[in-house]
Amino acid sequence: MTATPLTLAPREIDPSVDREIQAIVSGGTGGSTCSTDLASNPWIFDTNPGYGPGASMGDIIPTGAPRQGTLPQEYRDAPEEELHERIRAAKATLGDRVVVLGHFYQRDEVVRHADHVGDSFQLAGFAKQHPEAEAIVFCGVHFMAETADLLSTPDQAVILPNLAAGCSMADMADIDQVEDCWAELGELYGDLDTPDAEGLLPVIPVTYMNSSAAIKGFVGRHQGIVCTSSNARTVLEWAFARGRRVLFFPDQHLGRNTAKAMGVPLERMPMWNPTKPLGGSSETELSEAQVILWHGFCSVHRRFTVGQIDKARAEHPGAQVIVHPECPMAVVDAADAAGSTDYIRKAIQAATEPTTFAIGTEINLVQRLAAEHPEHEIFCLDPVVCPCSTMYRIHPGYLAWVLESLVAGETVNRITVPADVADPARVALERMLAARP
Ligand code: SF4
Repeated sequence: MTATPLTLAPREIDPSVDREIQAIVSGGTGGSTCSTDLASNPWIFDTNPGYGPGASMGDIIPTGAPRQGTLPQEYRDAPEEELHERIRAAKATLGDRVVVLGHFYQRDEVVRHADHVGDSFQLAGFAKQHPEAEAIVFCGVHFMAETADLLSTPDQAVILPNLAAGCSMADMADIDQVEDCWAELGELYGDLDTPDAEGLLPVIPVTYMNSSAAIKGFVGRHQGIVCTSSNARTVLEWAFARGRRVLFFPDQHLGRNTAKAMGVPLERMPMWNPTKPLGGSSETELSEAQVILWHGFCSVHRRFTVGQIDKARAEHPGAQVIVHPECPMAVVDAADAAGSTDYIRKAIQAATEPTTFAIGTEINLVQRLAAEHPEHEIFCLDPVVCPCSTMYRIHPGYLAWVLESLVAGETVNRITVPADVADPARVALERMLAARP
């Protein structure tokens, strides 16, 4: 079939979620946001325990979660344009000595300074492509900076501009809880490190990329593997070829949506809630399990509902609804398609005729896609502007601070994974890279 050329006139779209929030909070638009505190600068919250305003603000933060020290006053006082100019100047001075990486969900005011933009695994790959860089400034969240440290050379410093930029989902699988779970499963299934007569292990642990290095190290030590939202099915196939069942963490939704699409019945997917004995499931449920789902979730993607999809379809007949697999199962089932950030981007790029897309993923990415593709109508399913709380903690003020510190010969906010964790974590990542459909 011959592709029809696009004919829509380009529209002006401002991809800045920050400016939209400022306008909402000052009453300048009819829109709404999940927290008016989003209009404040992140250093207002840095001394408080918590994820800050945004999608995960209601989640419980671990007591030991990193906090950011005080940002020097000059960066807090500087107007936005001055910060942009200082960032540009510092990058020019540093040249090849630094590479700045920006996650898709990052605010536009930061992404504009990134040398590479991508999802967490793409960005870790970009970090590997720059062995000449002494410093990798990772404008994302903590587990992503850890992964970049695992994949970069020992001489390279990976810097997270705001240490308070964690990830509530990653924090839901704490290494002590996972070790306790493993011990309980060992009592139920027997020796977890010894294969049965058919060469299958009782349980293969699978962790989503969105987990701490400690968790990646755990799965590396226990014959397990890492997955991304792009390759979760391939990784589960890899795991089922080696084990009777899978323990999947931290995101229950990615695990459930992927296993369901592979034909695993819901009744063979019990949950593991780390606050309950045996994870809150019965011995029978666990014995018959094919996938044990850790009780974790992403508060950004949990906001999407079937009602939003129904409304989008009613108001935009013919709209294509695409959601991220971190969304709840009912939302994924109601959508036209579900896939990773990369999948969503490629689906939009592949549309040869003007199309309306209703997207279920983080608002910064959706607004950037809308700006990049004025030939299409692209909007977020959630009408409430509610960015990822922790990504939102990275502000141009922090980026200017870490870059100017490098110019002055000082490395601040370095993220380092200790060798006893890094070695098995790399094994788990290498297994993922070697896994083939
Ligand atoms: S979008 Fe969700 S999974 Fe991603 S960093 Fe934010 S809280 Fe974590």
